[in-house]
Amino acid sequence: MRLESYLGGEWKAGNGEARPLVNPVTGAKIAEADSSGLDLQAALDHARVAGGAALRNITFAERGALLKSVADVLAANRDKYEQIARENSGNTKVDAAIDIDGGIGTLKYYARLGGGLGETHSLVEAGEDQLAREPVFGARHYWNSRPGVAVQINAFNFPSWGMWEKIAAATVAGVPSLAKPATSTAMLSFEMMRDVIAANVVPDGVFNFICGSGEGLLDAAGPMDSIAFTGSAATGFSVRSHANVLRSGVRVNVEADSINGMIVGPDVGPGSPLFDLAVRETVKALSVKAGQVCTNIRRIFVPRSISTQFCDAVAESAKKLSVGDPADEAIRVGPLVNRRQQETALEGIGKLSAEARVLFGGGIPEGLPAAIRQGGAFVAPTLLLCDSPQEGKAVHETEVFGPCSTVMPYEEIGGAIDLATFGGGSLALSLFTGDGQVESKAVRHLGPWHGRIMIVDETVGRNHTGHAIVMPQCVHGGPGRAGGGEELGGLRGLRLHMQRTAVQTSPQAHATLASRTSETAL
Ligand code: NAP
Repeated sequence: MRLESYLGGEWKAGNGEARPLVNPVTGAKIAEADSSGLDLQAALDHARVAGGAALRNITFAERGALLKSVADVLAANRDKYEQIARENSGNTKVDAAIDIDGGIGTLKYYARLGGGLGETHSLVEAGEDQLAREPVFGARHYWNSRPGVAVQINAFNFPSWGMWEKIAAATVAGVPSLAKPATSTAMLSFEMMRDVIAANVVPDGVFNFICGSGEGLLDAAGPMDSIAFTGSAATGFSVRSHANVLRSGVRVNVEADSINGMIVGPDVGPGSPLFDLAVRETVKALSVKAGQVCTNIRRIFVPRSISTQFCDAVAESAKKLSVGDPADEAIRVGPLVNRRQQETALEGIGKLSAEARVLFGGGIPEGLPAAIRQGGAFVAPTLLLCDSPQEGKAVHETEVFGPCSTVMPYEEIGGAIDLATFGGGSLALSLFTGDGQVESKAVRHLGPWHGRIMIVDETVGRNHTGHAIVMPQCVHGGPGRAGGGEELGGLRGLRLHMQRTAVQTSPQAHATLASRTSETAL
C-alpha cells in the first residue's frame, strides 16, 4: 500500500522511490510513502486561497463546531486506529490511547474554546492606552488571522496527537493546515485524515496533508505562513536556518528533544506516599510508549540518603514490566518504532554507561521469542545510577529515546536545582514534595529553564495528570535545548497563527472595531 498526500483537494501519490513503513514487532514492511514530484507551491497556494478564505469567513464558534465534527469522525473510527497504532508504532492499548484519545480530546477542547469566543472573527486585548494629552487618541491591540498556511512537521512518536493538537489551534485561529507526519509512522495520520476528508466535514483547502519527506516544502513557504516543527534538535536547526524561511520571515515554532527531570524532594522519606508516587511515575517513564515521549523523565534527582531505597523500589516494581508483542494484552512495553531507533537508543545507553552504572536492563530484553527478537526493535526498560552527576556530561546531554532513565543523587535541594539546569532547557520537570520553600525555590529558579513544572504534594496524590502527559490547557514547549517553542496553553496556542497589531485611533473608532471582536488575553 502506497500512502498518498491530500493536496489541492485531491489524493495524490509521489512518483519517486518510496520509503517503507514497518511493523516494529517483526520488521515486516506494511506500507510505503513518497512525496516526490508533488507540486507543493500549488498546494500551499490552494490552502492559502481556498482554505484560508473558508476559515476566515466563519466565526470562532463555527470553527469550534468544525473541530467537534472532526473529533466525532475520529471517535467513530477509533478501533481501527488502535490496530494501526499497534501495527505501525508497536503501541500497547495504553500507548495507543494516549496518542489517539489525546488527539481527539485536544480537538474537543479547542472546539469548546472556539465556541467560547463566540460569533466573532478577531480578538482584542483589554485596556486602551491614551496617547494624546486629550482622551481623543489611544491604542489598543487587535489579533487577526494571518492569510497563510500553518505548515506542521511532526515527529514519529505521536502520529495522532502531534497532528491534531497543531491542527486544532490553527483552525480556531482561522488558518488552514498542511500537516506532514514523520514517514516511519505515517499510517495512522494518513488513515485519520482520509476518514475526515471522506466525511466531508471540512471545507476545501482547510486540511492539507503530505505523506513522505515533503522535500521542497520549506522553499515554498511565504511570509504569512508558519512552520510548527516537532522532532530532533538537529532537524529543528535545519528548519529554522533554512534560507527561504529566514529570507521570507516565516514564523517558526520548534519543539525539540529534551532531557527532562524529576526531583524527589528532601522531605520525602522511603515508603511515604510521595516516595511511592515518585516510584510509580518513574516506572511509567520506563514503560509508557516504550519511553518514546518527548517529555519523558530522563533524569531523576533523589536525596542521596534515600537513593538506594528509591532504586530498589523502582527495580522491584519494574520487574513486572513485560516486554514483547503488544498484540498480547498482558504486554506492558512494546518495541521502539524501528531498528534504527533501537540501534540509536542502545548506542545512547552505551554513552550513559560511561558515566553511570546500569542497575537493570541496558540492552535487548531477555526471553523474547526468537521471531520477534530477530526482526523487532525492542529495548529493555533500563535504569542507571550516576553517582557523581555534577561531573557528568553525557548523562545531561544524551536523550535515549526509549525506556531509559538515570537516577542522580543530590546532597541538598540547591544541588538538585543546579543539576536540573544542566539539561540546557527542558520541556517538563516534576517535583514531589510537601515543602513550600522547596516548591518556591524550584519554581523561581527552574521556571526559566522549563515550559512546564508539575508539583505533587500529598493533597494532589494520584490525581495528577502525569509528568509526561501534555494537557491542552497548559503550554507545551521549553527553552534552549527543548527548541524555545510554545504550543497549546489554551488560547495562547492561537498566537502563532494570528498577528497582533497596535491600532492607534479615536475612542469612537476603537468602540466600533472592538464591537466586532472578542476581548481576551492571549
Ligand atoms: P526527526 O528525525 O527530526 O523528524 C521530525 C520530522 O521532521 C519528520 O516529519 C521528518 O520527516 C521531518 N524532517 C526531516 N528532515 C527534514 C528537513 N530537512 N526539513 C523538513 N522536515 C524534515 O525527529 P523524529 O525522529 O521523528 O522524532 C524524534 C525526536 O522528536 C525526539 O528527539 C523527541 O524528543 C522529539 N520530540 C519532541 C517533541 C516536543 O514536543 N518537543 C515531541 C515529540 C518528539 P521524515 O520522517 O519524512 O524524515
